[in-house]
Amino acid sequence: MSTPETPGMPESAVGSENVVDRRGFLRGLAAASAVATVGDAVSPAFGQQASGAGTAKPAVRRYPIDEPVGMLYDATKCIGCKTCVVACHEANDLPPDTRRDPRYDAPLDLNDYTKNIIKLYRAEDGETTSFIKAQCMHCVDPACAAACMIGALQKREHGIVTWDPNRCIGCRYCQVACPYNVPKFEWDSATPKIVKCELCNHLLADGGQPACCRVCPTHAVIFGSGEELLAEAKRRIAEHPDRYEPKVYGEHDGGGTQVLYLSKKGIPFEKLGLPALSEEPVPERARTIQHSIYQGAIAPTVLYGLVLAGVWRSRRSGAKDSALEQEDSE
Ligand code: SF4
Ligand code: SF4
Ligand code: SF4
Repeated sequence: MSTPETPGMPESAVGSENVVDRRGFLRGLAAASAVATVGDAVSPAFGQQASGAGTAKPAVRRYPIDEPVGMLYDATKCIGCKTCVVACHEANDLPPDTRRDPRYDAPLDLNDYTKNIIKLYRAEDGETTSFIKAQCMHCVDPACAAACMIGALQKREHGIVTWDPNRCIGCRYCQVACPYNVPKFEWDSATPKIVKCELCNHLLADGGQPACCRVCPTHAVIFGSGEELLAEAKRRIAEHPDRYEPKVYGEHDGGGTQVLYLSKKGIPFEKLGLPALSEEPVPERARTIQHSIYQGAIAPTVLYGLVLAGVWRSRRSGAKDSALEQEDSE
């Protein structure tokens, strides 16, 4: 089975110091391509979000704090311009990932510098292709949060799954639990943290929207309430059954996700890297397994106790050491 790969870079080598120029180039290219390739407008419900290459003022719309919000990614509209990847870096203050090649900001997958990635799927016939966007799915019942016994990862306002640096102890259980392989760990950092999309929640307070949705020139990814997005996805399938796979990925998969997907007719979601999950919430399975293996979660609780005790002891001895240093210097 072919797996999604990262789309190729522009042929001209662009130095990292010219990253602004490249961004401008990508946006211009994306806007030009959008005019040529996008036939259908988005539905009236999302009309205001059409922001033409990110230049028009985005719609100001505030959602009640308890209303779930999310994104709808439509693979039939994506042109692979990666404007959303650049915008995500900018909005989240993430450095360009030039670790593979100093000339390019070209991550191959989600990583500690990259909360959002666009990949290319190419079928075995070599001709059928589709782009696919990956970021946190903001699961309705998130396995990462269920695995995090300290509560560092939780569903918070608008149902967005966010990470609390003050609680995280770096155990990385969330990485193992996530069925979409989303949370990444800063291996290179002396004070590592977990990195994942938080739906640009820092931009939502004033009626803004996630950076990737704001800049997408073809509206391949749009922002809205969960209800609106699902209705929009179903409307598109009903209007163009010849264009879409007859399913909205995320409506029920793994208990449901707040990020929804539409795929091109003939390209099953699994080919795009979206796992086939039952409707049962993923944490339910994990809880059942954990219960049978650990007989009521005694073992993980003990393990967490030991980890916490270790952290507490090392902090205490660190505090003692610094106190000693202060005494010596007096
Ligand atoms: S989602 Fe939009 S911005 Fe991102 S690559 Fe696709 S078309 Fe470009
Ligand atoms: S996709 Fe993974 S990291 Fe995101 S909410 Fe779901 S389980 Fe958590
Ligand atoms: S919502 Fe924000 S953090 Fe998430 S993928 Fe889009 S731009 Fe990146």
